[in-house]
Amino acid sequence: MNHFKTIVPVAFLTMFFLCGLSPSVGAQYFAVPPGAQAISNPYCGAPTYRVWNEPRRGGINFVGGNGPVFITVAHSLGAGSPVERAVLAHECGHVARRHGLNSGFYGQIRQKELEADCFAASILAQRRDRSALIAFRQMVGSCGTFSSGPPGYPTCNERLSTINQCAGGM
Ligand SMILES: [Zn+2]
Repeated sequence: MNHFKTIVPVAFLTMFFLCGLSPSVGAQYFAVPPGAQAISNPYCGAPTYRVWNEPRRGGINFVGGNGPVFITVAHSLGAGSPVERAVLAHECGHVARRHGLNSGFYGQIRQKELEADCFAASILAQRRDRSALIAFRQMVGSCGTFSSGPPGYPTCNERLSTINQCAGGM
């Protein structure tokens, strides 16, 4: 029974990884959660909050089941960290491309995730934010030809090549 104790945390961490960068799985907030900390988001104009118990890395959220949209990011990423900047930029990609509940998001997850990745890589490269680009690649880059998330998600290799292409060599 001893290895049960190690399997459980590993399984939990795996779930956390898989649910990262996803607006469509895990929690979906329809109102700003209590205790959320409003933060500035340099990548888009959507209201953005750092959330203590956010089970995803970040997400886009809807008021009343539709727009307007706000962004949440997990406090556990570290305030102002490179990985937080990468997640914020990715979620802004969903907002900028209008990946709302009524835009067919659920049927086009692969394409939408790659669009958000491209937006993020492009804006981080424009800002010469090399450390956020490194964190971004580390975040999505370890599953090769397997899906980077739930069914329908792009593979890690697809995401990496999108990031490389949209970062313009940075
Ligand atoms: Zn996403």
